Amino acid sequence: MIVEQIWTGNAYRNFNYLIACPETGEALAVDPLDHEKCLAAAGDKGWDITQVLNTHEHPDHTGGNRQVIAATGASLLAHAGARDRIADIDRGLSAGDVIRIGRHVELEALDTPGHTMSHVCLLAHTDEPALFCGDTLFNAGAGNCHHGGHPPELYNTFATQLARLPDETRVYPGHDYIANNLRFTLDREPDNARAGELLGEVEGQDPNRALVSTLGLEKEINTFFRLHSPSLIARLREAFPDLPEAPDERTVFLKLRELRNSW
Ligand SMILES: [Zn+2]
Ligand SMILES: [Zn+2]
Repeated sequence: MIVEQIWTGNAYRNFNYLIACPETGEALAVDPLDHEKCLAAAGDKGWDITQVLNTHEHPDHTGGNRQVIAATGASLLAHAGARDRIADIDRGLSAGDVIRIGRHVELEALDTPGHTMSHVCLLAHTDEPALFCGDTLFNAGAGNCHHGGHPPELYNTFATQLARLPDETRVYPGHDYIANNLRFTLDREPDNARAGELLGEVEGQDPNRALVSTLGLEKEINTFFRLHSPSLIARLREAFPDLPEAPDERTVFLKLRELRNSW
């Protein structure tokens, strides 16, 4: 499996992806908003984009579909529940569906509600596990729930799906928000030395050569995976004095999501 991460350079800081089979050169484009850059990258590599996949229905993820499909004849894949919000879906995806690219690449569709209620993540089981997580999981952060989402569902997705993936899983999110998210982690957990160190490394990084994290690293630096941290819970109690002595994970997650909305 070859992964090309494409930095759009737009105001929303979107990342687009091409995932290709090294033998056949067939490729799948994930959320190819910057259709010109995606088509140019495929051209440079000699790849044929045969499938376009939208992780969810927001326009900064679907906005390049028409142009990429017109140029390549690719078919369009998205969550089966997004049919009334994304035009012309050829294949509606449900949890466990397998997406094949060429001869060597197989991706599993994960049904991951929370940011929106029809959001899929892709899990590659090939050589190195990899997760294409749209706006569900960001480096050092979690998606918001302002436009069709639901915070308790986002918590369930984190707890029952993402947190259980192997630590070596590489993380490919839909946006570059890492520096700001690390600042939020440090605001919530000021003694998180690894987050402080990493902020120094990624501040001013070239997003064309962005750090690719792993779930193991996220568990160290992403406040939404650190629901048992004593310093995080102590800080949370300053904002929410009614917080119980040993709050459950779900309560901590939902309070963090609420604070992040206005941070
Ligand atoms: Zn979104
Ligand atoms: Zn987005």
